[in-house]
Amino acid sequence: MAGAGRIVVLTGAGISTDSGIPDFRGPQGVWTKDPAAQRNSHISEYVAHAEVRRRVWQGRLASPAWTAVPNSGHLAVVDLERQERLHLVATQNIDGLHQRAGNDPALVVELHGTMREAMCLDCGDRGPMEPVLDRLRAGEDDPDCRRCGGVLKSATISFGQSLVMEDLARAHRAALECDLLLAVGSTLTVSPACDLVPVAAGAGAAVVIVNAQPTPYDGIAGAVVRAPISEVLPELVSR
Ligand code: ZN
Repeated sequence: MAGAGRIVVLTGAGISTDSGIPDFRGPQGVWTKDPAAQRNSHISEYVAHAEVRRRVWQGRLASPAWTAVPNSGHLAVVDLERQERLHLVATQNIDGLHQRAGNDPALVVELHGTMREAMCLDCGDRGPMEPVLDRLRAGEDDPDCRRCGGVLKSATISFGQSLVMEDLARAHRAALECDLLLAVGSTLTVSPACDLVPVAAGAGAAVVIVNAQPTPYDGIAGAVVRAPISEVLPELVSR
């Protein structure tokens, strides 16, 4: 870590759990406790069933992410940027906490989109989420697109939806260019995000994995750290 000057940080839900946002596959994960929730997050279910959308909108409205604040793990990634060693943050998170922590939004690629914006699945119209949440608070249960009447959804990538090609290409390029890939709080089981690890390693970068549970790539990592992220990350990035 100390010698690395072009670091790509790949983050997953684990970096945000200390901000009060539950992860998916950890012991207290959303899908560990409720496997049906994962099935319901498939795009085809969302499009086909108003009842699924109503439930999902209620979940969005109640999300702890709206009031969550970045923790010392996020702030450590900001420190990397201040040290001019951060090449890119590629995050699987949709909570926007890297930007809130102070990372330059131009250095953050949100591979799975953002919950802070809403998008129409029909016409592609996109805007901030807050006005849609206001419509829910005002009593709508399945808000439609104001422009075309189509199905509205958070601007996140659900199962069954493709990633944004240019985002993926940018993360892939950064993985090829970096001298160290730091994977934080991800089980590294969701492709193509997790593929950045072998891509970086194949191009000669060192790999450091910080995650509570084993990952499929522990074997190619130069170091695997199993300590709480918000404690260990500040230590790792301090020179
Ligand atoms: Zn529309």
